[in-house]
Amino acid sequence: MGNIVAIVGRPNVGKSTLFNRLTESKQAIVDEVSGVTRDRHYGHSFWNGRDFSVIDTGGYVINSDDIFEKEIRKQVMLAMNEANIIIFVVDVEIGITDLDETVAKMLRKINKPILVAVNKVDNNERRYDANEFYGLGLGDIYPISSINGSGTGELLDELVKHCTGEDDVEEEEIPKFAIVGRPNVGKSTLINTLIGEERNIVTPLAGTTRDSILTRYTKFKHDFYMIDTAGLRKKGKVEEDLEFYSVLRSIRSIETADVCLLLLDATRGIEHQDLNILSLILKNRKGVVLLVNKWDLVEKDQNSTTEFAKKIREKTAPFQDLPIIFVSAISKQRVFKVLETAMEVYENRMQKIPTSTLNNHMLKVIEEHPPPANKGKYIRIKFVTQLPTHAPSFAFFANLPQYIREPYKRYLENRMREQFNFTGVPIQIFFREK
Ligand code: GDP
Ligand code: GDP
Repeated sequence: MGNIVAIVGRPNVGKSTLFNRLTESKQAIVDEVSGVTRDRHYGHSFWNGRDFSVIDTGGYVINSDDIFEKEIRKQVMLAMNEANIIIFVVDVEIGITDLDETVAKMLRKINKPILVAVNKVDNNERRYDANEFYGLGLGDIYPISSINGSGTGELLDELVKHCTGEDDVEEEEIPKFAIVGRPNVGKSTLINTLIGEERNIVTPLAGTTRDSILTRYTKFKHDFYMIDTAGLRKKGKVEEDLEFYSVLRSIRSIETADVCLLLLDATRGIEHQDLNILSLILKNRKGVVLLVNKWDLVEKDQNSTTEFAKKIREKTAPFQDLPIIFVSAISKQRVFKVLETAMEVYENRMQKIPTSTLNNHMLKVIEEHPPPANKGKYIRIKFVTQLPTHAPSFAFFANLPQYIREPYKRYLENRMREQFNFTGVPIQIFFREK
């Protein structure tokens, strides 16, 4: 399971400043999938060889001073359920407030690592003031300044102690698929169609499916796990936190999955929220298959699918090498194809390309189009190798790696995609010093 870090705390303590620092700073190298819109509240980061997702819970609620205690409670509840590690941010300038006490009281009840980050400790005098926060009864405190970065290294050192690494996870040979998408797009209907058991209660009410479960199936000659997390939502919950909630749920299943089946609603096309979920999938470097569901509702002519697919790819650019299938969960149109394709993407993501094959092909490509000289310096790439990571990543060794620019990286990625089959799979390219 992935490492999900949630940042909680009352408004104005500096949650989003800390979020930005954790996800953007040079030290915590940001995993940016180029071109994909950055979510302001969700990021991916790594420190000391451990990677983790960061959620700024504050970003999802109305951030005003007179924010209701109820709102904060809700936020903390969600974080407590969904995250593995919680950073509780407090403000040294203000000291402990009633709301801080409320949050602390909730956090004391759960058995998850909680790091108290005492923010705005911009100088040494304030370090002393920070000690007040031991009074919250949550153990060690981490005095930090999100603005100038001091103390955040210590916070991260402690944080990653609670993260699991790739090596800690047993190498599972059985693919894990997740069905993701915004509410009402047809996730539970599709699960029922694929699996053929009425395990999910399908209702037209947004997000009324049961909690996330990992279930193993042998169906259609394939052996796989299916993660059903359409999201548990009790009736009567206010609409505001709908996106926040479904984002949290999506992150959970995306982190667990190898390949995500992202559902779109054919009657609505690809929308902002769909792209957000796609961006979560790509940031987590998981495989993806786009399913245009409710295709039965669309009036079609011969070219409909081609045109529809074209429109989708325009929006997902620059990541366009992904399968798009037009399905109907209700009339069971092309549902076999869904599993076939998910399996293919899984294989694409698992493949290890022999170093000799890689060099034979890519060095030729590089020779035909070498990286442009930069500041009068010639850049030579001499060797390529696939790194031993779960998701495909490649290191290109060069004399002056720092001078290679983004467009050239894009060029290499496109040539790799032409030669090797990485459809549905985000790949990473690194340049390293020879
Ligand atoms: P949020 O509402 O908890 O997300 O808080 P923000 O990140 O929006 O920060 C609230 C205010 O505190 C902003 O004016 C920030 O510039 C300021 N702030 C955040 N971190 C620090 C810090 O480390 N030191 C100081 N002095 N101000 C900070
Ligand atoms: P979820 O919230 O994503 O799990 O969506 P549901 O599976 O609950 O479906 C929401 C609504 O869309 C329900 O009324 C379904 O019957 C309907 N629906 C789902 N798939 C299809 C489809 O392929 N075609 C049509 N016409 N309706 C669908």
